Amino acid sequence: METEVKNRIYIVGIGPGKEEMMTGEALYALEQADVIVGYTTYVKLLGERFQGKELRATSMRQEVERCRLCFSEAEKGRTVALICSGDAGIYGMASLMLEIGSAYPHTELSVIAGVTAASSGAAVLGAPLGHDFCSVSLSDLLTPWETIEKRLRAAAEGDFVIVLYNPSSHKRKDYLKKACRILLRSVEGDRVCGYVENIGRDGTKSEICTLEELQDREVSMFTTVFIGNSGSEIIDGRFVTKRGYQCEKFPH
Ligand code: SAH
Repeated sequence: METEVKNRIYIVGIGPGKEEMMTGEALYALEQADVIVGYTTYVKLLGERFQGKELRATSMRQEVERCRLCFSEAEKGRTVALICSGDAGIYGMASLMLEIGSAYPHTELSVIAGVTAASSGAAVLGAPLGHDFCSVSLSDLLTPWETIEKRLRAAAEGDFVIVLYNPSSHKRKDYLKKACRILLRSVEGDRVCGYVENIGRDGTKSEICTLEELQDREVSMFTTVFIGNSGSEIIDGRFVTKRGYQCEKFPH
């Protein structure tokens, strides 16, 4: 027998900050919602446009409670949008929602893609992700540090461009340094690196430097870090990882 679907929750990636960087589909989902749920910072980021909706902000580390709130609102027949920064499926709430959602067969979950910090940050720096890349989160809240270290070593071994999410927090001030030291065991010190803080928000700041220099930089938790591969270069002040096209044939 088919399960009748009554309730809907949109799990929405709102991009890095400003509304212009939200997808049309994300805007549509927010327009449809009766109630918008999210971490306080992201609820505040939503402009005037959604202030007429019921907004429910919950604090950090209350992820499971935030999901439960979405399901209990949806069970009242209300359309819910759960918002996450960037893409909801990338270090966001989409996976947890789908995990919890299996207990709520009357609620349909729609995951709406968003612009993740890897791509919005890359655009600020130039084109660092022009070839194979991988991302590693330095947060060891839910992942043991040994696993993070193993992945960093494997990424360096595979000559991937590496994007670091969660490079720092109040309790993890030296984690970027720790990560750089691990990479420096096999990667040369003058490898092209860069970082972008507050992408798509007030006070966007970006910097290009070497891996050697990166290890001593203090970055905030709203920063995404990029470590180039062996072929990454700085071209006219931009961080570029080439795909391998032959363009010398076409001089200016
Ligand atoms: N779902 C988000 C990632 C959440 S993890 C996404 O897809 O982008 C949180 C980490 O994402 C931060 O520590 C930072 O590394 C990165 N991040 C998210 N938004 C950012 C922004 N506006 N500017 C810079 N980094 C950001």
